Amino acid sequence: MSNILVYVLHYEGEFNKNSLGAVSEAAKLASELAGEAHAIVVGEGSDVTDDFLAGLGKYGATKVYRAKGPDGLAQPVIDAMAKVIDSDGHKYALFGGGLLGFEIGAGLAARKRAGVTMEVTEVKVDNGELVAARPILQDSKISESRYKGDLGVIIGRLNAFEASERDGGGATVEDVEFELSPWSTKATMVQRGEQRGADVNIEDAEVLIAGGRGLGKPEGFEQLEELASAFGGAVAATRAVVDAGWFPYAGQIGQTGKTVAPKLYLAAGISGAIQHKVGMQSSENIVAINKDSNAPIFEFSDLGVVGDLNKIVPKLTEAVKAKKGG
Ligand SMILES: Cc1cc2nc3c(=O)[nH]c(=O)nc-3n(C[C@H](O)[C@H](O)[C@H](O)COP(=O)(O)OP(=O)(O)OC[C@H]3O[C@@H](n4cnc5c(N)ncnc54)[C@H](O)[C@@H]3O)c2cc1C
Repeated sequence: MSNILVYVLHYEGEFNKNSLGAVSEAAKLASELAGEAHAIVVGEGSDVTDDFLAGLGKYGATKVYRAKGPDGLAQPVIDAMAKVIDSDGHKYALFGGGLLGFEIGAGLAARKRAGVTMEVTEVKVDNGELVAARPILQDSKISESRYKGDLGVIIGRLNAFEASERDGGGATVEDVEFELSPWSTKATMVQRGEQRGADVNIEDAEVLIAGGRGLGKPEGFEQLEELASAFGGAVAATRAVVDAGWFPYAGQIGQTGKTVAPKLYLAAGISGAIQHKVGMQSSENIVAINKDSNAPIFEFSDLGVVGDLNKIVPKLTEAVKAKKGG
């Protein structure tokens, strides 16, 4: 039987959306493998009650391992996951993505001498085994990985797996006794926070309004904030404006920033450099406003508007507000 173990991150009483996506994906795959999807949650005290953890059953987990320890640091989670896998023989470990997922997944693969694939966008079952697909060569080709040995580690690209609730009971909760490795206590959490709220949580936003150097000045972002708030979305940026100090790095999209895939990505005053494109090209709908009709962004936009963003954005904001209000 091939069971899949999923690491689920939580913060302030909520499970991380990408982790829930990974649980849903694992449940779907496990049913094709005649196995089960299990989740592991690390946390302490009232943060990880039975009821809270059993709720992962709604996403298809049949069992949830509760490991007592600090969440948000990679090494303790690796210790806990390695213990569970050693005891219960999971065939695959699946992660929803994000920096912590990358760190834990890579560390777990090293610890268990397992194969690992990152930035996975699709996982299939073939001949009773999982095959992970990931885009390569600036997303122009797809590479497929299979796993030899006892364990395969699969780390999704952010938003690659969709969280879906299903009918069914809660998951059973099992406590895991594990020991921390000597090096796992070398780092401690000084402060933990998560970017929350429509204006900053760009990875979860369904609508992203992204601004580039075409905004002309830092204050240019104010009109994007207004448009984003009319949509109920969030604001993001290119590296050019982040480097210029116009917008925080947390909002940077692209090769050296975040990868996002919202339902709508509206790019205002962004040229569409390849390093930006790789971070947003999986968006469902891409709309670009640029005064240069030859801007590269129009080559991969679903809708292109040639014109001055300073004229178009305020009108669009009014129109969205009117539509939402009416
Ligand atoms: C190793 C490396 C990593 C990088 N990583 C990233 C990354 O992660 N993310 C990223 O974004 N970039 C990254 N870059 C930088 C990238 O190459 C581009 O320089 C950057 O994306 C350009 O940002 P921009 O589109 O805001 O600016 P520009 O390229 O200067 O484009 C501004 C656009 O605004 C338009 N415009 C001007 N005025 C108006 C107006 N009034 N109305 C409408 N349109 C207007 C212009 O026609 C132009 O197309 C990286 C580069 C390197 C070398």
